[in-house]
Amino acid sequence: ATIHRQDYRPPAYWVHSVDLHFALHPTETVVRARLGLRRNGGPAPLELDGEALTLLDASIDGVAVEPARLQHLPGGGLRIDDLPAECVLETRVRISPEANTELSGLYLSGGNYFTQCEAEGFRRITYFPDRPDVMSRYTVTIEADRASCPVLLSNGNPAGHGELPGGRHWAKWEDPHPKPSYLFALVAGDLVAVRDRFTTQSGREVALAIYVRDGDQDACGHAMDSLKASMRWDEEEYGLEYDLDVFNIAAVSDFNMGAMENKGLNVFNTKYILARPETATDGDYEGIETVVAHEYFHNWTGNRVTCRDWFQLSLKEGLTVFRDQHFSEAMGSAAVKRLANVRRLRAAQFPEDAGPMAHPVRPDSYVEINNFYTATVYQKGSEVVRMMRALIGPEAFRRGMDLYIQRHDNQAVTIEDFVAAMQDASGTDLSRFARWYAQAGTPELHVTEDFDAASGRYTLSLAQRTPPTPGQPHKQPVPIPVAMGLLGAGGGALPLRLRGENAADAPAERVLLLEEARQDFVFEGLPERPTPSLLRGFSAPVKLSGLGQDSLGLLAAHDSDPFVAWESGQQYATAAMLRMVAQGGEPVLGEGLAAIAAAALDRADSDPAFAAEAFALPSESFVADQMPVADPEAIHAVRQSLRRQLGIRFAPRLAELHDRLADPGPYRIDGPSIGRRALRNAALSVLSMAPGGDGLRRARAQYAAGGNMTDVLAALRVLVDSDDPARLDALADFHARWRHDPLVLDKWFTLQATSSRPDTLATVQVLALHPDFDIRNPNRVRALVGAFAAGNPAQFHAASGEGYRFLAEMVIALDPVNAQVAARVVSPLTDWKRQAEPRAAIMRAELERILARPGLSKGTFEKVSKGLALH
Ligand code: ZN
Repeated sequence: ATIHRQDYRPPAYWVHSVDLHFALHPTETVVRARLGLRRNGGPAPLELDGEALTLLDASIDGVAVEPARLQHLPGGGLRIDDLPAECVLETRVRISPEANTELSGLYLSGGNYFTQCEAEGFRRITYFPDRPDVMSRYTVTIEADRASCPVLLSNGNPAGHGELPGGRHWAKWEDPHPKPSYLFALVAGDLVAVRDRFTTQSGREVALAIYVRDGDQDACGHAMDSLKASMRWDEEEYGLEYDLDVFNIAAVSDFNMGAMENKGLNVFNTKYILARPETATDGDYEGIETVVAHEYFHNWTGNRVTCRDWFQLSLKEGLTVFRDQHFSEAMGSAAVKRLANVRRLRAAQFPEDAGPMAHPVRPDSYVEINNFYTATVYQKGSEVVRMMRALIGPEAFRRGMDLYIQRHDNQAVTIEDFVAAMQDASGTDLSRFARWYAQAGTPELHVTEDFDAASGRYTLSLAQRTPPTPGQPHKQPVPIPVAMGLLGAGGGALPLRLRGENAADAPAERVLLLEEARQDFVFEGLPERPTPSLLRGFSAPVKLSGLGQDSLGLLAAHDSDPFVAWESGQQYATAAMLRMVAQGGEPVLGEGLAAIAAAALDRADSDPAFAAEAFALPSESFVADQMPVADPEAIHAVRQSLRRQLGIRFAPRLAELHDRLADPGPYRIDGPSIGRRALRNAALSVLSMAPGGDGLRRARAQYAAGGNMTDVLAALRVLVDSDDPARLDALADFHARWRHDPLVLDKWFTLQATSSRPDTLATVQVLALHPDFDIRNPNRVRALVGAFAAGNPAQFHAASGEGYRFLAEMVIALDPVNAQVAARVVSPLTDWKRQAEPRAAIMRAELERILARPGLSKGTFEKVSKGLALH
């Protein structure tokens, strides 16, 4: 059944207080819930959600309810008629954490208890109006076996503990802040705490703890540092302080997502907590900083102010991603962080906007809400907030945040409420801007130029168009802020004097606002024909076209804005690669492309991180996304050939960089060190493509030298992609060394799944039968199946259709085990519209095969049926 945003109705009953009691047991946990109910408006039945619960008994104001009064609803919920306007409803249910392979609700992982309630997991713990606009004060008592469950955690502050007969014990928690059910959490088991403290700006002492399995205590330092830095930054940037006596994090290795912001008790995928130099890459360290900050920032944007309904998800997610990106930019090299985030946006969100699941940042309907935790809601939502801040300015944005929180603290609100706060605080009319939340699809920005040398007049014409998306055939123009400058032929900045302006104060950079479908911007007083530098810092999430290769080459070499410099090089290379794909034949590394690569290497000393980004060719999927009908194998062949030619042409320079950029001392996780390793490993990767060179020898030596995981993995990547006989030994060695560390073993699977070798598909099929492959562990499924289908286009789209068949088999096996993960990994199969026949037909047939499975989950059903409906 499809849920529509317009159908929102306030709940019939509020639940002002919740008192929970858990008697934990692997297969027979008993949950007693006492709900303080208050009717909201006139007489109406009480409807409670419920799923996979066994009801034991119920009472109203202490009087047992006869079973006949409890109406069981089709989805598993309960309905009770004729309740008083105010009463206490008590239920007792039995649940089996051990049987819970969906990892939603209360489940077991490695013998320990964890919960995940967002979006609709609380209904798998007890009967409840499981919707975010019902906010309650919680007290929670947990009772368990002391020996197997020494640690008993829930939200809020500790409020007592004690012993019980039979080797059991209990602990009580009280959360003073009202919250929706999706923020409930319970963690219990044999975990150890890494502790620290934080003093807030007003002097509150907060006890910090990260709970992990014994043996992982030494791997929590980076997460703890990131947490303290986040707490400080939220105070400094927004004046927002933490509001409980304790802040706990628990790490779990079976987790559907990255992490979860439960009030006072964040639950994290171990991937975003644990890091040691020998086991975690630089990318893992950066991911930890980002995710720890993200979940911490939710305490205000998400928890204190929450969502009225799930259509408003981006209210908390887009805003919180914006806050974590802004934080990470402040912590390291802002420009490189920015372009990495843009790269990710274009890799994940642009295809979503162009595919069968395209939806606005604030969707209008859904079948399964878990399918809408998307790059659109998260990343595009963040870009929209970023644009709003650019439009009204940072001071007005800060006033808007203050106003938003002052107005809506402890409320469940809408995206309109957020925009209204920004509008009222800034005095800027944001009604047109709000279209960014309502329209799906990536706007296309096309530029044309006209220069009149005699008058020095330059006309920049900007036109926008958003392609139709499912359910939205016609689009309106959106306001697009275009941060820009003009360059002279020598690369220097030219003054920006718009027609009618004074010559004296012409700036070198300005922001044009394109509000209509097409607008001309006329600049005067130009001494020469300029080259426009547009969308500086990626000032809007749009696709830009219309600049020729000459302009792109000049911008890549000279633009002062690092984003435009990088982007222009990428666009230049993309255009060149598309031409080679179209032409067929042997690709040739042209002089323009070689010059861009050389210019990137010239920045090796001043900014190695940027040099690594600028030296890399655009990914195969990015190039494919620019084609109406993709040709994955041809793109792969072109890209590999260009990499080989770069390796030959720049061999001495790449070898020299590989020698010179080796870490001078012990591993350090700071921007310059990360940048050096990135460039050094990029050099190794391209060098090893050159036939007859010494790249493979270097890779073997780098692998054997061991040391940090970034370098080890980069070396192994090179070997695994090669024909070097040493590659099998290296893989076996890596497996033997790390088989007991699940996060490192995930890398072993991913490395093989994303190999460019032609036999990869067969390898992946064998790996799916490997004893270390476990379909119940989401990280392992993502590491093998997700990495292959989403990260290896040339092999996934093998002409035989075997890649499609493999993914369909995995989805069919996974759906009854963990439907959320199944619905996620199926996505690449729904992209058939951009494949040529007969591939597209095979993809459709595999989708049909999945759809025909009896008992298919509604999440997988939604993805597959929407995928097929796009004819
Ligand atoms: Zn979030």
